[in-house]
Amino acid sequence: MNYCTNCGKEMDPAADVCLNCGKSRFSLRSTSSQPDTGGFGWGLLGFCIPVAGLILYLVWLNERPMTAKAVGTGALTSVILIMLFYFFLFIVALSF
Ligand SMILES: [Zn+2]
Repeated sequence: MNYCTNCGKEMDPAADVCLNCGKSRFSLRSTSSQPDTGGFGWGLLGFCIPVAGLILYLVWLNERPMTAKAVGTGALTSVILIMLFYFFLFIVALSF
């Protein structure tokens, strides 16, 4: 027997919407978790803490692809800038 995840009443297995409270059993899962919108904040987090960004990217790759992409892009940008910085230092060091 199926039970509504919102109100706990028995549900018709063939019904997509609870007859008691009107909640769709399919939309509940996606709305209860945090919205997957990506955003500049996550990119900034990945940029400031590339290691955390990389971990979050791998964790959220399937669950929250947009946020994972944002945080992953931030981390990647940070790593590239750090590499350019060291490359620049290397060039400066060679010129002396
Ligand atoms: Zn219900």
